[in-house]
Amino acid sequence: MDKTRLKNLSISELESFITSVIGEQKFRARQIFKWIYQKRLSDFSEMTNMPKTLRAVLAEHASIDKLEPRRILESSENDAVKFGFELIDSSHIAESVLLIDGDRRTVCVSSQLGCGLGCAFCETAKLGFIRNLTLEEIIGQVIGINDYLHNRGDRLVTNIVFMGMGEALSNFDNFLSSLSIIMHEDAFNIGARRITVSTAGVIPSIEKLMRENLTIGLAISLNAWNDELRNQYMPVNKKYPIKDLVAIAKKYHDQTGRRVTFEYVLINGITDSGEAANALEKLLGGFPCKINLIPINPVNTGKIGGTFKSPSDRQVEKFAENLHDRGLSATIRKSRGQDIMGACGQLALYEAS
Ligand code: SF4
Repeated sequence: MDKTRLKNLSISELESFITSVIGEQKFRARQIFKWIYQKRLSDFSEMTNMPKTLRAVLAEHASIDKLEPRRILESSENDAVKFGFELIDSSHIAESVLLIDGDRRTVCVSSQLGCGLGCAFCETAKLGFIRNLTLEEIIGQVIGINDYLHNRGDRLVTNIVFMGMGEALSNFDNFLSSLSIIMHEDAFNIGARRITVSTAGVIPSIEKLMRENLTIGLAISLNAWNDELRNQYMPVNKKYPIKDLVAIAKKYHDQTGRRVTFEYVLINGITDSGEAANALEKLLGGFPCKINLIPINPVNTGKIGGTFKSPSDRQVEKFAENLHDRGLSATIRKSRGQDIMGACGQLALYEAS
């Protein structure tokens, strides 16, 4: 008999498993939630607030295995750690990155193996789409990183960003179920304000998210200042052009009150020109949003990625000043973890070079 994998269940699904399959009372589900997400147990026998007979029945019918990290790479500056987690029934790994900044412990989680959206500057895109990660595989990354933090006596994960491998909104059901666990008071208890999902701009998925009435942060990978350029770098733009993307971002802001972030990769001579700043002002002027400027990371393989160059630090600062002068809120994002290939657009199953 196949055992039920409890980390693939939402709290309501776990409650019905406990009542209908195990024949126990519903409140046991919350106890189990606490054990597997807060105490991070992987053995029912250690659940000491439950009768021994119940623990034995659970062990017979259910499993609470953990994803094992196959490798952990710590950056030399101690501000980023990249993890490669083993997956269920797969030879692939899911990559996640822990970013350490003051009191903040942010986990960048993966939601798909590979990605089908084909953005030109992204290492993950080169893998193509392999499959969606299961709920357990998404949540397992957070559990594994909390184990790592706990073992070094550090505080646990405070923030989650869905910016790892894949487009989380294209794995919508598992993404949504993972949020219900991340936010649950008996699990990770991380509030909506400390969660962000990044998207390449699949508008129907953003509309779907809006129907859920959550107030998580939304980050849109813009990366270009006109459709011609964006079509080249992000094929998704051919279906959902910039004007429509900005329109839905405004609706998202109106509905949630949250300032939308636009991720904007700076590529020397391509996205950092005066013309680009002009176009961004026209697009985003007067809209209370944030622009994250991300000097493109060096990528170690691939003919498309290899041809892009990052602007100098001075050029990056000049571009940011140019945007500020136009009344736009732009921040230069410090790229943590470059030496472990854990920075934006670098997650693709590679070892550090
Ligand atoms: S940038 Fe994001 S959406 Fe684009 S290919 Fe990479 S993982 Fe997919």
